[in-house]
Amino acid sequence: MSHSLFGPLEDVAGDAGHEAHPPRMGFFTDTSVCIGCKACEVACKEWNLVPEDGLSLTGMSYDNTGALGASTWRHVAFVEQPAGRASRTDLGMPGMGPPEPAPAPDGPGQESESGEGGVRWLMSSDVCKHCTHAACLDVCPTGSLFRTEFGTVVVQSDICNGCGYCVPACPYGVIDIRPGDGRAFKCTLCYDRIGEGLTPACAKACPTESIQYGELDELRERAGRRLGQLEEQGVDGARLYGADPEDGVGGDGAFFLLLDEPEVYGLPPDPVVTTRDLASMWRHVGAAALGLVGVGVASFLGGRR
Ligand code: SF4
Ligand code: SF4
Repeated sequence: MSHSLFGPLEDVAGDAGHEAHPPRMGFFTDTSVCIGCKACEVACKEWNLVPEDGLSLTGMSYDNTGALGASTWRHVAFVEQPAGRASRTDLGMPGMGPPEPAPAPDGPGQESESGEGGVRWLMSSDVCKHCTHAACLDVCPTGSLFRTEFGTVVVQSDICNGCGYCVPACPYGVIDIRPGDGRAFKCTLCYDRIGEGLTPACAKACPTESIQYGELDELRERAGRRLGQLEEQGVDGARLYGADPEDGVGGDGAFFLLLDEPEVYGLPPDPVVTTRDLASMWRHVGAAALGLVGVGVASFLGGRR
């Protein structure tokens, strides 16, 4: 069966061969109400029996996992920004001032570089994007990665052979090989729970409803309304990330409302499915091969003359 490799796609599950299927389900993560409690990280680990991450504290922030990985299917990013930027998007989020400058022995203390308003924290619970065009799935040689009837992307660890092709294919750096195990792991969007009509564990545990689970079309409408609300309140810099079906991956099944540039949260600004250029690459390879054959034939005929 063939399926499209890029561009907007109306029926993701249908494109993957599911004839009668439920609506596409996904996540809308509204980072403007994330308080960084990490209940989602804990709930994900508990429900899915994900082993601990190594617990190597970075010493740089309250973010102790650093990034998504084979044993970190949810990652709560803590982004600390200096005061100058806080005025752009002041939501009354928790913040703290800089430490009082120590007085110099012979005069007043140095003024802190971070100025009056101190620091603001941006928090965001990151996860697999369950892309419309999932390169991880397209390159998997064993069929371990598959598209579910809900339009989500799931890896079946029991038939993963650990080749690792999916790891560089993912434009977001999500899927990963677990050291000591050798197989690839990532968020399943709680396939076992949603099949029973339950909410994924992370969304269920989120106390502020920053992580919202539901039908993707409805979530996109809700996100548009929330963005309008923030703009009305004068919040500068708010934007949706992954909600546009015209983007490089055809839109994400898990998308976000961010308060700053994606790079600030460690997200790629313009992700593109790595299989997008496959067709044109093969066309160029075919043209080059034909050219070589032509040169070979011409030199053979020229030699005979
Ligand atoms: S974010 Fe990466 S791992 Fe998740 S579906 Fe997309 S390509 Fe696959
Ligand atoms: S949907 Fe399930 S597997 Fe995915 S991050 Fe949430 S709890 Fe973990």
